[in-house]
Amino acid sequence: MADANREAHAAAFRAIAAHRSEHGLRDTVQRRQIVEVVLQAPAHATLEELIARTRALHPRVGATTVHRTVALLVACGVLVKRRFGDHCARYELARPIAHDHLLCRGCGRVEECPPALAADSAERARTLGFTVVAHECVLYGYCAACAPPPDGAGDP
Ligand SMILES: [Zn+2]
Ligand SMILES: [Zn+2]
Repeated sequence: MADANREAHAAAFRAIAAHRSEHGLRDTVQRRQIVEVVLQAPAHATLEELIARTRALHPRVGATTVHRTVALLVACGVLVKRRFGDHCARYELARPIAHDHLLCRGCGRVEECPPALAADSAERARTLGFTVVAHECVLYGYCAACAPPPDGAGDP
């Protein structure tokens, strides 16, 4: 796990360095600080959460700089921006292995589950002659900590 993490860091900084030289961007201390924070943040953090985490450690970093750096990480392919049904973008590290998401409508927590469902759907799609290049699967419901709602109350 630690090794995978270190590799993710190295890959992130390589991607940023490549993007920087291509676009003539400066390598600022603040950007490095933000990248460190973002890479260590839990998966599926919102921009607000990433800004709060950064500012807790580096109070002088502005929200706009965090926003720009997060956008840069998405442009470099280090971060993936996801939109679930709760209308707010969340970010997670790009990984070669797809996974599905479970979104709790009670507390808003997002968890991951193995992509068995997606693999199954992709297989079915293939039998229909459909070439799958990406997938997005979110299951909505209530986590163990949130009481299940009365019948039907969870539907929009
Ligand atoms: Zn919950
Ligand atoms: Zn995820």
